[in-house]
Amino acid sequence: MKIVNPANDALVAEVKDDSAATVAAAYERARAAQPAWARTPLAERLAAVKHFRDLVTKRRDELALTLTREMGKPITQAQNELNALRGRIDFFLTHTPSVLAEETVFSQEDGALDEVISHEPLGVVANVSAWNYPWFVGSNVFVPALLTGNAVLYKPSEHATLTGQRIGELWREAGVPADVFATLVGEGVIGAAVVEQPVDGVFFTGSYATGRRIAERVSSRMIRLQLELGGKDPTYVTDDVDVRAAAESLADGAMYNGGQSCCSVERIYVHRAVEQAFVEAFVDVVKGFKLGDPEEKATYIGPLARREQLDVLEGQVEDAVAKGARLLTGGRRADRPGAFFEPTVLAGATNAMRVMRDESFGPIIGIAGVASDDEAVALMNDTEYGLTAGAYSKDRARAARILERVHAGTVYVNACDRVSPRLPWTGRKHSGIGSTLSTYGIRAFLQPKAWHKKAG
Ligand code: NAD
Repeated sequence: MKIVNPANDALVAEVKDDSAATVAAAYERARAAQPAWARTPLAERLAAVKHFRDLVTKRRDELALTLTREMGKPITQAQNELNALRGRIDFFLTHTPSVLAEETVFSQEDGALDEVISHEPLGVVANVSAWNYPWFVGSNVFVPALLTGNAVLYKPSEHATLTGQRIGELWREAGVPADVFATLVGEGVIGAAVVEQPVDGVFFTGSYATGRRIAERVSSRMIRLQLELGGKDPTYVTDDVDVRAAAESLADGAMYNGGQSCCSVERIYVHRAVEQAFVEAFVDVVKGFKLGDPEEKATYIGPLARREQLDVLEGQVEDAVAKGARLLTGGRRADRPGAFFEPTVLAGATNAMRVMRDESFGPIIGIAGVASDDEAVALMNDTEYGLTAGAYSKDRARAARILERVHAGTVYVNACDRVSPRLPWTGRKHSGIGSTLSTYGIRAFLQPKAWHKKAG
């Protein structure tokens, strides 16, 4: 596989792909090694994860540069991802012991009966991952999986292969046996080969199209399946906001990481009373975003990780304009080498336009005016997805009343594009099934065992 820098089309590295045979061999080794890993005292597993965390902190600059060169994330944002990883790992370190602890849920007074729940790892799990936040979405799976005693077959995205290989090396350096964590590289066919192994759980992060294919493939196997998929995340700006502050927050939520976040703001509905002022402020903020070389610290918008997405975005603009939207800035690929798309704002959008229906995964936003909270709720729910949604209002209770009615796994009041390790990350509808993060995201790697203990 050739790894090409999306900012300038330069060859970064050539990597030998795994094959069906190397994937099967890695599975066999993981199966053999997992029981000993599960029996390793928890304190040792915790120590290995702490070591991994500290290595990531120490090597931050080098790891960030690797990510920037292979998928185009601006260097400051790559460093931010690595900085924030520490907090996620610390959450798992703090909470895994109590989640793993045995619970006595009933004890008869005369000692004749105890009822106890213990927690066992699933066994060997497949972790097929996306490229947009490879450190975050990978860690959401492999950190709690390893802490709870599972072995992991990790398939990073082909657009984050070098990062995936570094992750494997760091686990070995941190003391996790090579057979307990295997990085398997290649395109989708290698992901499919990983999922085909007789694993005990499949944890996938990626698009709905691939997630659905995986769900169909594993459905007869009665194994744990989690799918963290795409979104078309809406936000509603009510008529009582500080327009400038809302515009600044939402422009960042729409365009950070080039809009390539699963929870990027993808649609904005704004109350007609503030629509004009909001749109003007939004365009003003977007025009201030610096597009350029992702290795420069001041760059805010880098290239898209996947060149094909340029055509998708241009198609969305064309479709929206043909259906009556007003293109206020951007709307085309940037006039420079690499896969750059100008940050784009379309006003007067409607839910009939592709920019308001299909996941864009780029620096583009459609804005639509609405007459009431009810209309906003109806339009926000008019989607196949349900990952996140938000409402901006000075009245928190009003925002909460709006968001109670929106079908999404995460809702934001006066915020967007935010993930907390303390809260479950979970999708509704085509955004997926299952949860990572929070204590739900630790239990996801465990199966309960029910004990009925009678006196002999
Ligand atoms: P993708 O579906 O193209 O690829 C994801 C992974 O699946 C890659 O490793 C790929 O090689 C592998 N794959 C492809 N075909 C496969 C198959 N048939 N069987 C098994 N594996 C296969 O997604 P992507 O482009 O890497 O990521 C972008 C998508 O991920 C967006 O839709 C985004 O919203 C979503 N995402 C969701 C979350 C979340 O937490 N909900 C987080 C990040 C990204």
